[in-house]
Amino acid sequence: MTKPLPSHAEIVIVGGGVLGASIAYHLTKLGKRDVVLLERKRLTCGTTWHAAGLVGQLRATANLTKLAQYTTGLYAGLEAETGQATGFLQRGSISIATNSERLEELKRGAAMAKTFRLEVHEVSPSEIKAKWPLLEVDDVAGGVFLPNDGQTNPIDTTMALIKGATMRGARVFENVKVTSIRSDGKRARGVVTDEGEIAADVVVLATGLWTRALAKSCGVSAPLQACEHFYIVTEPFPGLAPDLPVLRDPDHCAYYKEDAGKLLLGAFEPDAKPWALDGIPEDFEFAELPEDFEHFTPILEAAMRRLPALGLVGIRKFFNGPESFTPDVRYMLGEAPELERLYVAAGFNSIGIQSAGGAGKALAEWIIDGHPPMDLWDIDIRRLQPFQANKAYLGARVTESLGLLYAMHWPYRQYETARNVRLSPLHQRLAERGACFGEVAGWERANWFAPEVEKAAYAYSYGRQNWFAHSAAEHRAVREAVAMFDMTSFGKCLLQGRDAERELQRICANDVAVPPGRVVYTQWLNERGGIEADLTVTRLSERAFLIVTAGATARRDFAWLKRHTPEDAHCFATDVTSGLAVLSVMGPNSRALLSAVSPDDFCNAAFPFASSREIEIGAARVRASRITYVGELGWELYVPSEFAVGVFDAIVTAGAPFALKLAGLHALDSCRIEKAYRHWGHDISDEDTPIEAGLNFAVKLNKGVDFIGRDALLRRREAPATKRLLQFGLSDPEPLLYGNEPIWLDKSIVGRTTSGAYGHTLGAAIALGYIEHPEVATRGFAEAAGFEIEVAGRRIAARASLAPMYDPKGERIRG
Ligand SMILES: Cc1cc2nc3c(=O)[nH]c(=O)nc-3n(C[C@H](O)[C@H](O)[C@H](O)COP(=O)(O)OP(=O)(O)OC[C@H]3O[C@@H](n4cnc5c(N)ncnc54)[C@H](O)[C@@H]3O)c2cc1C
Repeated sequence: MTKPLPSHAEIVIVGGGVLGASIAYHLTKLGKRDVVLLERKRLTCGTTWHAAGLVGQLRATANLTKLAQYTTGLYAGLEAETGQATGFLQRGSISIATNSERLEELKRGAAMAKTFRLEVHEVSPSEIKAKWPLLEVDDVAGGVFLPNDGQTNPIDTTMALIKGATMRGARVFENVKVTSIRSDGKRARGVVTDEGEIAADVVVLATGLWTRALAKSCGVSAPLQACEHFYIVTEPFPGLAPDLPVLRDPDHCAYYKEDAGKLLLGAFEPDAKPWALDGIPEDFEFAELPEDFEHFTPILEAAMRRLPALGLVGIRKFFNGPESFTPDVRYMLGEAPELERLYVAAGFNSIGIQSAGGAGKALAEWIIDGHPPMDLWDIDIRRLQPFQANKAYLGARVTESLGLLYAMHWPYRQYETARNVRLSPLHQRLAERGACFGEVAGWERANWFAPEVEKAAYAYSYGRQNWFAHSAAEHRAVREAVAMFDMTSFGKCLLQGRDAERELQRICANDVAVPPGRVVYTQWLNERGGIEADLTVTRLSERAFLIVTAGATARRDFAWLKRHTPEDAHCFATDVTSGLAVLSVMGPNSRALLSAVSPDDFCNAAFPFASSREIEIGAARVRASRITYVGELGWELYVPSEFAVGVFDAIVTAGAPFALKLAGLHALDSCRIEKAYRHWGHDISDEDTPIEAGLNFAVKLNKGVDFIGRDALLRRREAPATKRLLQFGLSDPEPLLYGNEPIWLDKSIVGRTTSGAYGHTLGAAIALGYIEHPEVATRGFAEAAGFEIEVAGRRIAARASLAPMYDPKGERIRG
C-alpha cells in the first residue's frame, strides 16, 4: 500500500470490497496498468468480510447465470495464480422443494441451466438424505444438485484478487476517503479525497452500502438501501461431515453450510429490516449490528425441524451485518446515464461474493470497450428510475426485496410494497372496472381485468393462473371486436430543431426522412450492429419528431439519444412522458368505434397504416397514430393528460355496440407473440442484430446516410447466417411457456426461448427464441425441422416458423 496519492490515474476505483478488488483484477488482466483503488478504511471492512461465502451458479436469467458460472471458475484458479489462499471449495449445493410448485420451479431452473452446460441433477428425497444424512426429508418433494457450486472465504478471496491486481501494477490505498466526484457536468473527471484530489479518465463506484449517497453527490441515482442480514454459527456440531454440499431450503427461507465442524445457518426472511435509512455512521468498519433473536426465531424453529440435531447444539455466534438491496433484487452495473465515464458496481443483494468474478470482468470490459460485453439489461443501472432512490420508496421496497431471493419466483409475480407511486391519469377508471395492476418502472399498469364478482388479485401458479380465462376473453376482443389498452407508461420524447432530421437519420436504422404525419418503426443500433432500442418515430412537422418507446427502456433510450446528439447540433430532446396519456384502441371494430366518437375520417384512404394526425374526440385534440403491437387494425391515441379521463369516458360510453372490452398487458403479450412482434429486453438486445432478429425490413441500408451500425450490418451480411429468431408453438395445448426454456433439435439443445405466452387464437403456448444452426436461414428449414421445447424436464414437440404464425401477410393490420 503506497503513499502519497498520485495526482492522476487513468481509472480510479472507489471501494475495497470484493467488487472493487475484482474490477481492479480484471482491468489489469486486460492490460490496464494505471489503476488506483481507494478504500476509506481497510480492505473488506464494509460488507465483504462477514459474508457466508456461498458461491452458487444458477441465477434467474441466462446471462446472470453465465456470470456466476465464470466466478466459480475464476475462484477455483485464483490461489494457483496469485499464491494467496482463498479457501475456495467445490462441494456442490442442493436446493430442496417441499411442494410441487417449488419442485417445478427448480426443474425449470435446471432445464434453463442445460442451455449453457451447467451441470444440474434432479435428486429424490432419498438421494438428498444420502448426501445430507442428518436431514429430515419426510416433507421433501425433491430437489436439484449442482455438483460444481462452491464456497469460499470472502476476505481471502478479496485479498487474492487484490494481489492479482497489484502484481500487474494496480495501486491500492487504504484509509483514503473519497468525499466527492469531480465532473464537468457531462463526464466524470476524477475524485476529491480527504488526502487530496486525483484526476481520472474513469471513476468506478464499488462502494457497497455507501453508493447511493456518493452517487447522489454527483447527480447520479443509484437506488440501494442497507438491510440487516443474519446468520448464526453453532458450536462444534457432532456428526456433521466435512464435505457436505451447501443446502438451500427456500420454502423455509434458510441455507445451511458446514463451517469447520460447525454449522452456519443463514436466512432470507420475508420481512426484512432496513438499516441506517438516514446515513451510515462515519466510523463504520468491520462492524456488527445488534442481535435480534426474535426476528430470527421462525427461521431457527423451522431449521430445528429440518435438522433435529440442531436442537442439541449451542449457538456460538449470532451474526447481524448490513448488506445492500435494490428495488428489484438485481444488482447495478454500468455507466451512469447521468454522467459519462462514471461506472457503478453496487447493490449486490447478498450475492456479491458469487457475482463479483463475473460482474468485475463484465464491468472491466465495459470500461475498456465503451459498451457491455453482452446483453446485461437485467443488471444495467439504466433500468432503474431516479425516484426509486427516494428514501420513502426504498425503505418500503427493501423490506420485501431481501426475502424475494428465496421466495417463489412465480411467473408474473408482482411486488407488494412501494406500490401506487406512478399512476396513469386513468388509474382510478381502470381500478373501478376491475383492473389487476402490475408494476414496470414504477408504473401501475392493468395486466388483466377481473369480472365484477371476482377480486382483482393474482393467485400464482406455474399452471394456468386465475386470470387465464379473463385474459383470453380480452384477447378475443382484440381479435374479433375491439379492445382498449391504457399504454400511458410508454416513454415519449420530442426531438425538435432544424437539425432534428439529420441527427435522427444518423441514429435510426430506418428512414425517418418522411413527410410529416408518418410513423416509422425503427431500431437504434450500436457500432456492432446490435439493437440498442426498438421504437417508433413520428414526424410531426419539418422540425419536430415524437419518439415513443417502452416504459421500461425510456430512460436508457433517451440517454442514448442525448449522448449521440452532438452538442452543437440544433436539436433538442424533451421527455414529454408525463404530459401524454396513451389509449390504444385495437381490433376489427376500432374504425367504427372511433368514427362514433370523432368527426374525423378513419377510412383507409384518409387514414392509412403508419400515418398519424390530430383528431377530435369530444372537446379534446388527440394525436391518433395508426400502428399496432397486437397485429390488428387499430389506433394509438396520444391524449394530453388533463383530457385523458374525458376521452376514456367517451370511448367507453360509445363502446357497447362494438363489443368494446378493456384489456390488459397479458392479453397484449399473447397477441404480440402470436404476431411474432419482438420485445426489446427479451427477444432483442444490444447483442442481436436486425439480421438475426428478422428485422431487416425496418433497416434502410440505402437511405443515403451512414447511420450508426450500418457498416457492421454490411459486414455481417457477408457471413453465413447461422443464428435466427424463430417463432414456436407447442403441439400440446396444455403446458405453458414463460421464456428461457431450452429448444431441442434431435439430441442437441440448439437455443432457448426468449419470451413466451399462451396464444389464445393459435390454441397453445407460443414463444420466440433464437436457434443456432447452419441451415436456420434456409427457406423451409424452420417449418420442417422437428423442434422440441423442454418444460420442467419434459420435451414437447413444437412447430416453428420464420413468418408470423398469425396473419403472416399482415392483411388484418391494413384492413
Ligand atoms: C450476513 C451476510 C451473508 C452474506 N452471504 C453471502 C454469500 O454467502 N454469498 C455471496 O455471494 N454474498 C453474500 N453476502 C453478500 C456480500 O457480502 C456482498 O454482496 C458483497 O460483499 C458486496 O461487496 P461490495 O464490494 O459491493 O461492498 P463492500 O464489501 O461493502 O465494499 C465497499 C467498500 O467501499 C468502501 N467505501 C465506501 N465509501 C467509500 C468512500 N467514499 N471512499 C472510499 N471507500 C469507500 C467501504 O469502506 C467498503 O469497504 C452476504 C452478506 C451478508 C450481510
